[in-house]
Amino acid sequence: MRIVFIGPPGAGKGTQAERLIETYQMAHLSTGDMLRAARDAKTEVGQQADRYMSAGELVPDEIIVAIIAERLAEPDCQQGYLLDGFPRTIAQAEALDQMLAEKETPLDVVLELQVPEEELFQRLAGRGRADDTPEVIRQRLVAYREQTEPLLQYYQQRNLLQSIDGLGTVDEIFARARAVLDKISG
Ligand code: ADP
Repeated sequence: MRIVFIGPPGAGKGTQAERLIETYQMAHLSTGDMLRAARDAKTEVGQQADRYMSAGELVPDEIIVAIIAERLAEPDCQQGYLLDGFPRTIAQAEALDQMLAEKETPLDVVLELQVPEEELFQRLAGRGRADDTPEVIRQRLVAYREQTEPLLQYYQQRNLLQSIDGLGTVDEIFARARAVLDKISG
């Protein structure tokens, strides 16, 4: 299966992604993880990206799209993947569509994890990652609302969007995600 996993920062995508890739044998493509690894390795791209990440802003589309294009060509992606944190803008979604059209490997589903904004702020403030100061958190939530939320309509129009409630225990949420994916994988 080829899945886009979408949801605001703090929705719990990372936790669910880990379970989903194990259950459905997919590669896990987290752009946040890739950028943090590049930053820690002090690569050129990592240092460029760090300026945006530490301000809670999105990294420019060209950088992200290039990273993903390279990653999708790797052998482990041929059996399916879960895109976690990408696409985050309409331009990224269009770039992805074009890449997948060329390979004739369309997406199977876009899974949205829904969590109310008040809850997100609480969760993020309690998490304590270096980029989790109140100002940066606010900026990331704004970036989500303004740049990423429009993707929901984009994918709805393409009949790919499936949304699940992201409130509850990890097991409850995982069961909701499975219900959606089991229906798709048949
Ligand atoms: P979160 O914990 O907010 O869900 P991630 O771990 O996915 O965030 O990403 C952390 C940071 O990396 C983002 O705030 C952003 O600066 C950058 N980033 C990750 N993915 C993308 C993307 N697809 N486009 C632009 N920037 C991205």
